[in-house]
Amino acid sequence: MQLRFYDTLTREKRPFEPIDPKNVRLYACGPTVYDFAHIGNGRAAIVFDLLFRVLRHHYGAEHVTYVRNITDVDDKINVRAARDYPGVPLNEAIRKVTEETFQQYQDDVTALGCLPPTVQPRATEHIPEMRAIIEKLVAGGFAYVAEDHVLFSPQAMNAADTMLPRYGALARRSLDEMIAGARVDVAPYKRDVTDFVLWKPSKPGEPSWPSPAGITVSGRPGWHIECSAMAWKHLGERFDIHGGGIDLVFPHHENELAQTCCAFHADRMANFWMHNGFLQIESEKMSKSLGNFFTIRDLLADWPGEVLRLTMLKTHYRSPLDWTLKSVEESARMLDDWYALAADAVGGEPAAAAVEALSDDLNTAQMLAALHALRHQASASEKDRADFAATLRMLGFLSQTAAEWKGRKQQASGVDPARVESLIAERTAARARKDFKESDRIRDELAAMGVVLKDGRGADGKSVTTWEMA
Ligand SMILES: [Zn+2]
Repeated sequence: MQLRFYDTLTREKRPFEPIDPKNVRLYACGPTVYDFAHIGNGRAAIVFDLLFRVLRHHYGAEHVTYVRNITDVDDKINVRAARDYPGVPLNEAIRKVTEETFQQYQDDVTALGCLPPTVQPRATEHIPEMRAIIEKLVAGGFAYVAEDHVLFSPQAMNAADTMLPRYGALARRSLDEMIAGARVDVAPYKRDVTDFVLWKPSKPGEPSWPSPAGITVSGRPGWHIECSAMAWKHLGERFDIHGGGIDLVFPHHENELAQTCCAFHADRMANFWMHNGFLQIESEKMSKSLGNFFTIRDLLADWPGEVLRLTMLKTHYRSPLDWTLKSVEESARMLDDWYALAADAVGGEPAAAAVEALSDDLNTAQMLAALHALRHQASASEKDRADFAATLRMLGFLSQTAAEWKGRKQQASGVDPARVESLIAERTAARARKDFKESDRIRDELAAMGVVLKDGRGADGKSVTTWEMA
């Protein structure tokens, strides 16, 4: 089955051919670790996890390398460290903040059903690679040193008479427009308003490393160079897919692409650039000031991670996603149904219709339509039921047994299953002695606890009562 993806750089959907099918290489920008990740970050993690799963399905799990970096050097981290650990030396406080936050992120995205990436490199462990790229850029005339900073010059890139891409091509912005729209108070060490920082001097107490390009004071990297260095180290000068949220296209990805192509004299950094769309809440922009800002952790307190994952996948990854309570509730009902039907099914193969939908630029809407069709067949055929379960597992669902899924829901409701069972036994006894007033009273008592009873017949033909949370 031919994979096709949309490439942000060329604005077209085209067939995906990996550079090396034995090692398909994907890079996605990961978190800056200073606070709980919000659900917009969760969307990016889920989208690129889905892509990782689709690539593994097509090329084999051992033939895909997925790199998701950790940005652990940043002004926001320094501010948070000083705030949360007053009196602790800044470098030590920074380490505490980045380690805690990385663990939180890891726990959150695991709960969302994301597989661990092949490599999760940390920026601070790739300073030599950053220095090497910076040296190449200075030597090539694409970057210059000024007041202990190293700056990249987009003008120099676009003036170079080579195979290089044009700066601004990814974001479809011209340098003239950028110059016209630039702020007036440009840092004095910049030759041109569009120049951006590759390296800067550290302030006293801040993390610092020996500087490149003959600068004698120690310093620290700019954000964009970190990803160029980590992608180079783990995936090489050119790789298959670079991903991230749409908000990263400019300036972050534009600058990564510029740095890497100029350093290695290449016309491409990645063959495909894939970006997931924005996320909004109940048709409004998510923001702290509007009071509708949610972290992944906030939502995990109320919903299983798989419910959040399904809610994300209902919208195509490139479209804006409107996060609504209604949609989350609908996902929860769908998963309850899927778990009850298929969680205990074994064997099976992912359904061709679902795989085909995903092969077409991760068309999750079409994939869900295929799943619904399969769901209907699955109640009648054991093979379809197993295939339905295998498809859901490939997508990161059904990580629990049906009993665990139901048990977690009951636990979350605060209802004691033993108490429910004993009330059901009392009700069964009341019905046996035709005391319907008492049996109705018990049913009402259970209903008040949120327990719904289902009276049916067991395999032996005797009446049985099962229950679930409303
Ligand atoms: Zn990045």
